[in-house]
Amino acid sequence: MYKLLLILLMAAVVSTGNAATASFDPAQNTWLLTNGWLQVILQLTPDGHFYVQSLFDIHSGDSWLLSASQPASPIHLQAGSESFDALRQYSLLDQYTTTVAPNGLRQVIQLQDINSAAQFTVTFDLFDNQPALRYHVGYRNLTGSPAFITAFDMLPWSFFDNNQQYTSFSVNQWSILGTPVNFETVESAVAPDGTPVTVYSGAHGQQCSWLAIRDSMNRGLFAGWEFDGRARVTAAQQADQNVLQFGSTIPDLNHPVEPMATFETPYAFIGLFHGAFSDAGFLTQSFVEKVLAKPVPDSAFPYVVWDSWAYEDSIDEATLMQNASAAANLGVELFIVDLGWARAIGDWYEDPVKFPDGLASVSNYVHSLGMKFGLHFALAEADPSSPVLQANPDWTSTENDGYFGAGSLCLSNQATQNWVIQQALRIIDDYQVDWILQDGENMVKSCTKTTHTHDPNDSNYANSVQGIDAVVSAIQAARPNVSWENCEDGGNMMTFNMVKNYVTSITNDASGSLDARQAAFGATYPFSMRYSERYMPQSDGLTPYSAHSYMFGGNWVLMFPLAGLAADQRRYLGQEIANYKILRTAFQGSQVYHLEPPSAGGTDAIMSYNASLDSAMGVVTRAASSAPQYNFRPLGLNPNSTYTVWFEVNHSVYSLTGSQLMANGVLIPLLTPYSSDIIHIDHQQ
Ligand SMILES: [Zn+2]
Repeated sequence: MYKLLLILLMAAVVSTGNAATASFDPAQNTWLLTNGWLQVILQLTPDGHFYVQSLFDIHSGDSWLLSASQPASPIHLQAGSESFDALRQYSLLDQYTTTVAPNGLRQVIQLQDINSAAQFTVTFDLFDNQPALRYHVGYRNLTGSPAFITAFDMLPWSFFDNNQQYTSFSVNQWSILGTPVNFETVESAVAPDGTPVTVYSGAHGQQCSWLAIRDSMNRGLFAGWEFDGRARVTAAQQADQNVLQFGSTIPDLNHPVEPMATFETPYAFIGLFHGAFSDAGFLTQSFVEKVLAKPVPDSAFPYVVWDSWAYEDSIDEATLMQNASAAANLGVELFIVDLGWARAIGDWYEDPVKFPDGLASVSNYVHSLGMKFGLHFALAEADPSSPVLQANPDWTSTENDGYFGAGSLCLSNQATQNWVIQQALRIIDDYQVDWILQDGENMVKSCTKTTHTHDPNDSNYANSVQGIDAVVSAIQAARPNVSWENCEDGGNMMTFNMVKNYVTSITNDASGSLDARQAAFGATYPFSMRYSERYMPQSDGLTPYSAHSYMFGGNWVLMFPLAGLAADQRRYLGQEIANYKILRTAFQGSQVYHLEPPSAGGTDAIMSYNASLDSAMGVVTRAASSAPQYNFRPLGLNPNSTYTVWFEVNHSVYSLTGSQLMANGVLIPLLTPYSSDIIHIDHQQ
């Protein structure tokens, strides 16, 4: 009893220090928000300007002060001819706090435009002991006529540059359009002359919706924005004016807001870090996993998965049944029927020739084997011959992506949207679907049709927030137990809105071992390991090199025939699947350290450290390199801990302290090109 009381008292002390709190000074119109990590000061100045005066990192002591020469306001949008920015003046209407899940505090500030053209509700969320501030703005049209939002800024920040030079860091998405990109990291010096660095994010964009920036003193900021549409985010330094300025623009934006109606900007977050860009990544991941990301379906996640694209669209009941049986025997947990099950894209009923007993019989069989049943659904595409487009030829978007010969649908058109939602609910129910593999081309179509319910010039916002997001949210609200996987012809919508709806995302599209490792290496900066899903195609063969190439992250998707595997291959794969299931338990909450990037002629290494287990694991892969060994020097270990170090391939076992390991590393023999090993660094009891 006494012990319990003591623990409770200690918890109370800790939670008081780390709990998000807000205090308002009505004499100065200032707010102080704090949560044990950040301290944020807001102010409505005596002359009516609304600013974030400072961000302060309680751990490092770093502070970021509003730029005096070019102050920015959290309110930054254009409604018709009215510019609402740092120059605009407001009066305070109301202010209050509410709680916000999980363990957060929401400060709401309502401001009235001095010209009475608009009212703003500015929202700041701080969560207990988290390094980021989440925010957005609601605009209410007080004029008597519709106003068109043509610009909003998700990163309305400017800071005193502290007379420092800055480096920016961003990560590409996967794209095969134009210049192919595969999650490369992009680190560049920020020019002091005002030339911006740019991140072009969203569906069919080039980069993940994330940016980190730091100075030579390791003082850093990171930001993420929760928008699936395309956005151009910039960071620029004007050293002669001592300003570091952020901003974002949204292409194809013309969103109508009726009189007295409200428009909400997408949420975004800004956080502070002190150290390397991988620290910025880890803090982002911790925040996102705690606050934003769709909860994992169960504690076994990430899964071992089988996907029928092993046979492309030449699937049928017998083939799937054979593979289901083989998959279950190997320990596969999720069985996905990929493209090719339906009569046509957009005609979402099973092909009666391929499935004479119905797709439900395959689903039943998969369930009887103890696996979850997943189904491919290209919700924004429909074949020109499909009944839906025959009956409604105008439901297509202006953009036509030609996904396997299909036409593209405008998800923002209300009638189209209603139909897509109905189809999803029906296939989920008819086929007892546990998992949707969402696929297709660009999920945020360009559409300038005047016959649709959206504004013809509002394509990007309409087809993201009121298109794909609205569709997926409606389906998920009606069928909350179905998990969704993000795929847009690969990892091409890598945003912090995506993580709210999907439990995982494909990174690149079954492009082989080296590309899979490259994708995981980059994607694990902004996103936690579960958003690095990898598809292992048949072309890779079944060797330690290929298997290990898919071990880091999750899910691990086998995309090759399992029925008919030779006995020794079956044994080997079963062993690797069992290994993966041990490794993945340590993935959650782990910090990723990017030791050596993958390249065709090199040896690459990546590791994760789980602080609660005080243990680490790493994957080392020699591609065409000539080096017969690799000195693996882990990062982030506890220097005073003693660890047992062992390997999957190499038979050596070591007992070493964290400081020994981090200073000297450990030599891993990789005797031939295309060899690999997995290193375990386990806390010694
Ligand atoms: Zn449209």
